[in-house]
This record gives sequence, C-alpha cells and structure tokens, in this order.
Amino acid sequence: MHPRLPGGHAIDYDRSPPPARSWARAGWWSWTIPPAWWTSPGFFLHFTQNESCGKCTFCRIGTKRMLEILERICAGGGKPEDVNTLAELGEQIRMSSLCGLGQTAPNPVLTTLRYFHDEYEAHIRDGKCPAKVCLALVEFGIDPDKCTGCGLCVRACDAGAISGRSKEAHRIDGSRCVRCGKCLTVCRFDAVRKG
Ligand code: SF4
Ligand code: SF4
Ligand code: SF4
Repeated sequence: MHPRLPGGHAIDYDRSPPPARSWARAGWWSWTIPPAWWTSPGFFLHFTQNESCGKCTFCRIGTKRMLEILERICAGGGKPEDVNTLAELGEQIRMSSLCGLGQTAPNPVLTTLRYFHDEYEAHIRDGKCPAKVCLALVEFGIDPDKCTGCGLCVRACDAGAISGRSKEAHRIDGSRCVRCGKCLTVCRFDAVRKG
C-alpha cells in the first residue's frame, strides 16, 4: 500500500520508468502522478511546508532546513556533511512529528538517499548532475551537425555567451554561460546539448 497525496495520487518509489528514477529528475522522488508535478524539484517538501499547521517544530522548521540543503546541493553548493545532515534531520522529523504529514515528509529524501546515494555524491563531490536536470551543474554546448545558424539562441541569450555567423554552426562560450537554459528552449533544431 503506497502513501497517497491529496486527490488520491499514489506515491510509488518503485514503479517509475528508469529515466525518472533519478532523484534529481524526479525532484528527489518518483511517484505515479502527472510528470509536471514530479519534475518540480522539492515539490513534496514545498507541499508539506505549505500544509504544515506549525504545531511541531521538526515539521515546521526541519522540512524548511531540508529544502534549503537540497536547493543548495542542486545549485552546486553541496557540502560533504549534507548527506548525513539530511539523513539525521529526516529521521528526527519522522520520529518527532505528531501526524502523518510530518511523519512522511522526509520519506522522499530518505528513500533517495538510500537508493540514489551515488547521485548525491555526484552532485556534492563532483559538481555533476548525472540526470542533467540541475542546470547549475550541466554544461551547455551546440551540436555543429544540427545547428543551422538561425541565430535564435543568440537573441535569447542575455549573457552574450553564444556566437556564430548566420547559417553557420554556432558555439557557446562556457566561461560566459550562466546556465539559464534559454538556448535549449528556443532552438527548433535540437542542436543545443546538455553535457
Ligand atoms: S506533523 Fe502534523 S501536527 Fe505536527 S506540525 Fe506537521 S502538520 Fe502540524
Ligand atoms: S537556435 Fe539552434 S539552430 Fe539556431 S543557431 Fe542556435 S543552436 Fe543553432
Ligand atoms: S544556457 Fe543561457 S547563458 Fe548559457 S548559452 Fe544558453 S542562453 Fe546563454
């Protein structure tokens, strides 16, 4: 029996397809609800924070601390001690909360710490996001074989990181790229790559 969210959506850590079984891609958990929900990092902790009545300190403050740590890890500022801190906080929240909301709030983090521990390590130790979801931890590039030189990405890039002549393959200057992802969104030729 899987726990359920409002609306009857079941939280299922095992049934999601392999690409989604990444803690980053799934927003640190996987569940059988529409993709637009689970692609939002930290959704579950945001949700529990919004719904918390505030009576229990660990539910009210502990989930906030966990979310801050996760967001920092995804932004490239993870510290070696974060994994242990998340595990300890999660257990404390689980044990000290009065109702099911607080008792289950840390589960996605605790589960992914167990099954996707190497991904946490990749983010914190290597500064890489294996699922290429955390934009701060990916490198953007342009496939010269696909780029038509249309210039759309140049106009979209506020950082001025893309250059190239019209109708010729463009390139991204990694030192100027702020990893906003706009070029990826505007390119109609699937030429922008995350690596
Ligand atoms: S665990 Fe339940 S009772 Fe305690 S603060 Fe959270 S929502 Fe309120
Ligand atoms: S939008 Fe795509 S095809 Fe057009 S220049 Fe940029 S990378 Fe090349
Ligand atoms: S990710 Fe953003 S900053 Fe980097 S090249 Fe693309 S549009 Fe420019």
